[in-house]
Amino acid sequence: MKVIDHIRQAKETLISFEILPPLKGKTINSIYEHLDPLMEFKPSFINVTYHRSEHVFKKKADGTFEKVEVRKRPGTVGICAAIMNYYHVDAVPHLICGGFNKRETEDALIDLNFIGVDNVLVLRGDAAKNETVFEPEADGHRYALDLMKQVVNLNNGIYLEEDIRDGFRTKFSIGVAGYPEKHFEAPNMDTDIMHLKTKVDAGADYIVTQMFFDNNKFFEFVKKCREAGIEAPIIPGLKPITSKKQLSVLPRTFYVDIPNELSVEIMKCKADVDVEKVGGEWLLQQSKELKASGSPVLHYYTLGKPKVIWNVVKELV
Ligand code: FAD
Repeated sequence: MKVIDHIRQAKETLISFEILPPLKGKTINSIYEHLDPLMEFKPSFINVTYHRSEHVFKKKADGTFEKVEVRKRPGTVGICAAIMNYYHVDAVPHLICGGFNKRETEDALIDLNFIGVDNVLVLRGDAAKNETVFEPEADGHRYALDLMKQVVNLNNGIYLEEDIRDGFRTKFSIGVAGYPEKHFEAPNMDTDIMHLKTKVDAGADYIVTQMFFDNNKFFEFVKKCREAGIEAPIIPGLKPITSKKQLSVLPRTFYVDIPNELSVEIMKCKADVDVEKVGGEWLLQQSKELKASGSPVLHYYTLGKPKVIWNVVKELV
């Protein structure tokens, strides 16, 4: 079932989770172990992130280095199939521009359609580890908008091969990303929201946000989106802080602020187990307020900390 239909049919705020594929070498059981406890909350859908391959330098026997391409977390499509088979819950694969050309994207979309996936979250992806700015593949997409248009085309039966007439029309519900604290490359919030509106106008059904720790930033973002004419549902992305290290890692990696009140409490913690309590309590308060404000879905980034999320959602439902 499509995410947008889950939202339209919902009588109350829904719950969804997001997971990462395991590192190469691990089994699908690590996904089941991660998700099993969370399934008691009957998530409406589960997102599976996509990770592009990266170049690393490997030392050879003669002491020289060779550049090799490695994908540390493969398996997004397979995990989606596994989730749908094992839990009978809708899976939402992330689809990125980075590292793909249009033909590979089309093939991936056909695979997803064949395994019964009705949803995609369409993203640009970040720059490769060895690059400072995002560079699309030759014959790839530069912006999420361009990738989205390819999905919309396939939904209209338009394939890359022009001689395919009367092609099967896929029926992907498309989500896109939004940034309550602005995407780091955008010159200002208004421009970023203008680009977001272009994605919605081109066919995105809903928006999922980057994590944030101050609900007022989310409420202000939603207000600005509505003023700009964006009517699509906006799903808050939520994550608990679980270690002191994240006080600097999260702002540096995701360009998000951590409110002073929260960072002061975390600094007082002696061990990370105490941070988990503080971060979990903060997330619970955020969740309660977002639910009371009528958020369509609470989308939790579980990222290796399902127990903390479990404690929060248990208190909420
Ligand atoms: P875009 O919408 O293409 O925007 C990128 C930048 O370009 C923005 O600054 C925007 O304002 C600007 N822009 C857009 N259109 C134009 C235009 N026409 N002209 C000029 N500027 C323009 N990354 C992964 O690699 N894998 C994942 O699984 C993944 N999941 C994510 C899930 C969520 C919910 C979020 C919020 C992010 C996720 N990311 C993921 C990270 C994401 O790929 C990065 O944040 C990336 O830098 C931007 O992606 P986007 O889809 O927002 O890009």
